[in-house]
Formats: sequence, structure tokens, C-alpha cells
Amino acid sequence: MFSRLYIPRHRFGRTIYIAVLTGGLLLILLESMGLYWINQDFKESIRAQGGLHKFTQHLDKLRSSLIDQETGQRGFELTGDDAFLEPYESGTLEFYRLIAVIDVEGNTYMKASVAIQEAIKQGLYWHDYAEEQIAAKRLGHTSGTEQLARGKQLFDEFRRKIDFAGSVLQGEKEAAFSHLQRSIGIKLFGFGIGAIAIIVLLIMLLARKLHRDTTVLHDLSEAVRGFGDRKFDERLPARRERDDLYRLIAGIDVMRMELKLKFGKIEELALLDGLTGIPNRRQLNVHLAAMAEAALSSGMPLSLVLCDIDHFKQFNDRYGHLEGDRVLRHTARVLQGGEAGSRFAFRYGGEEFCILLPGCDRQAAAEEAERLRVAVIEQSLPPYELTMSFGAAQLSDDDDPSGEALIARADKALYMAKANGRNRVETSG
Ligand code: GH3
Ligand code: MG
Ligand code: MG
Repeated sequence: MFSRLYIPRHRFGRTIYIAVLTGGLLLILLESMGLYWINQDFKESIRAQGGLHKFTQHLDKLRSSLIDQETGQRGFELTGDDAFLEPYESGTLEFYRLIAVIDVEGNTYMKASVAIQEAIKQGLYWHDYAEEQIAAKRLGHTSGTEQLARGKQLFDEFRRKIDFAGSVLQGEKEAAFSHLQRSIGIKLFGFGIGAIAIIVLLIMLLARKLHRDTTVLHDLSEAVRGFGDRKFDERLPARRERDDLYRLIAGIDVMRMELKLKFGKIEELALLDGLTGIPNRRQLNVHLAAMAEAALSSGMPLSLVLCDIDHFKQFNDRYGHLEGDRVLRHTARVLQGGEAGSRFAFRYGGEEFCILLPGCDRQAAAEEAERLRVAVIEQSLPPYELTMSFGAAQLSDDDDPSGEALIARADKALYMAKANGRNRVETSG
């Protein structure tokens, strides 16, 4: 059901989905409301324009009804012919009918109503005056110039007021139209702003969510990249358990710990000799370079002793290689100074070992080598009686900081020890 609606099951997607859906629905609601109100405005405006139009029509009829009266009254006065009173009477009827209609609808448009009432009032003055004139005529009085002028003046005043009412009505029409325009303009602006606000809010919300999750991904990738440089202690980004990325981070954290452990083990193995368990030649190179550099810059002495088991080939030939291995392991312990290993002893290769003696000059190194020579004999693995030859040398100021020259001199001294009968210590340089 959910998959049909394409609702993402992970939090990140769901948040975006809900935000877009809610934002979209809000937009639709807002714009529907806007359209509804604008439509109401239109309806109201059309109704108002219709009403105003009707009023204008009433006004026109009012004008023509009075013109009909005036024509009839004039004709009767000039000719005394009763036929002229017909248009006068039909105009009068129409005039009163319209007054009644306008009275009923009169309150709708206040300004125009006042102006129309004024015009009607004026129409009534004229009508009363015309009645007087007709009555006088019937009694045989002919209207003088003065009476005619008075009648014309009243009629002109009525027309002026009708025209004024017409212009007020026109003004109302224009005001109603500009009110509509303004009202629609304000609503369009308001709903436009509302829509923009919703869209901006939505974008901000999504941008914030994206920013937060991509920041975590970025930090995570930086941390994982650090694994390549064996930086396994880099902190992984913190997430709450309910977050999408939590499982990924937790998985990578487990991987980080496993890698840290395994790399540690590999590093340890790479620097230790497989047979004797003491540091190997690779580690010697690292330590020697560091110590040589420190000694050259500080002026402190540094010496190195190379030693080799005498006639070991014969031993192997006689007792076998497994026994030879046992002897090598034992000898390594003796040279190292026991299990705790207080000396910097390394397996140099084969049955050769190397001891670094920081702070020892050549003399002190020769003395230490002599102590080791005796220790090898005294602590040799029963029942065997093995001996070792030793070559000692001191680092000189002209030596390279890698310590290669120092090894070469110690090797030369070892060669001399072998040449001079073995089981002895020789020094060089
Ligand atoms: P020298 O007194 O001149 O040093 O004589 P040597 O026999 O000790 O020297 P040589 O270089 O002729 O032989 C070294 C021997 O060391 C040969 C080899 O079998 C033995 N050897 C080297 N590495 C190992 C090892 O890991 N285990 C055992 N058992 N023997 C080894
Ligand atoms: Mg050898
Ligand atoms: Mg040997």
C-alpha cells in the first residue's frame, strides 16, 4: 500500500516527501481560497454594476417622463387642445411610478440616491407649477411670458439636477470598478506573498535537512579517508539511533575498530622477527636512523654492536635445524637482557644480532659487548656450549644519519673478531 503511494521508508526520504506534500497541499489550499475570494469580488462587482445600470435606466425614464409632461403641458397651453394633455398625463403616471420604484431601491447607493431625490423633488416642483398653469388655462387665463419663463426655469433646474444625479451614478460606477481592481490587486499580492513564503519555507526546510545529512556524509567520508592513512582514532559523526545514517555510521565504526586492531597486529608482526620474537632488521633501521639523528644533533655518543654465533653451520649440521632454531631463540633472549628486554637488541639476519647502545662511546660499547660475550657462554642452552663473536663501533660526526656507515664499521670489527679466532670482541673506527 505504502510502496504504491511511493512513500519512502527511510527517514530522509520521508521527511522530504512529507514536506513537499504538505507544502503542495498548503499551496493548493491557499490559491483555492484566493480564487474563491476573487470570484466573490467579481460577483459582488457584477451585482453592483447591474444595480447601478438599473438606476441609470430609471433616471433616463424619469427624464423622458418629465419631458413628455412638459411637451403636453406646453401644447395644451399654446392651443387649449385637450389632446395635448394625454402625453402630459401618461408622463405624469410614469413619473409617479418611477418615484415609487426609486423609493424602494433608493437606499442602495446613498450618494446617487440623494442626488436623485433632489432631482425628483425638483420634478415635483415643476409638476405642481404645471398643474397650476393647466388649471389657470381651463379658467381662461393665458400664460404670460413671466409664467412661461418661470416654468422653463423650473424645468431647466430639474434637468440640471437629473444630469448631476447621472454624473454621481457614473462616479459610483467608476468607484465600484476601481474598488474591484484594488481588492483583486490586494488579494493577488497577499496570496502571491503567501505562496512565495510557503515555497521559501519549504526550500529552507529541505536545504536544512540536506545540509545536515550531507554534512554527516562528508564528515563520515573524511573519517573513512583517514583510515587509508591508518588514522583509526578519527571521531565519527554522532547520530541518534533513529536517524537514517545511524546504521551506516555504526557499521563503519565497527569496521574502524576491527581495522585498528588488525592493523596494529600487522604492524607488530611486520616489525618483529618471526622466529625469535625480538625486533627485526626493519625495526633496527627505524631506530638506528632516529637515534643517529638525535646523537648527531645532540653530540651524545651512540654505539652499535654486531654479533654472530660461531660455527653455527656445524651446529645445525650436528644437531639439526630445529635445535638450531631453539638456540637462536634462547640467544636472542640473552642478548635482549631476559624476557623483560632492557636492551635494544635486534635480529640482524641468520645467526647475527645487533645491539644499539645510545649514550655509549666505543670503549663502553666494547665493555658491554664483552659482558654479552660472557653472558652467552654462561647462559648457553645446556648441554651446548656456544660462543659468539662481537664487533663494536661508535657513530662519528662524519657519519650519515641513517647509520649505514656505523653498521659497516661494526661489521668490519665483527669480521676481525672472526679472523682473530672468534669468541672475542673487536672494535672499529
Ligand atoms: P662463522 O663462525 O664463520 O660464523 O661460521 P658459521 O657456520 O656460523 O657461519 P656460516 O655463515 O657459514 O653459516 C651460518 C649458518 O647459520 C648457516 C645456516 O644454516 C645457519 N642459520 C641461519 N639462519 C638460521 C635459522 O634461522 N635457523 C637455523 N637453525 N639456522 C640458521
Ligand atoms: Mg653469519
Ligand atoms: Mg656464524
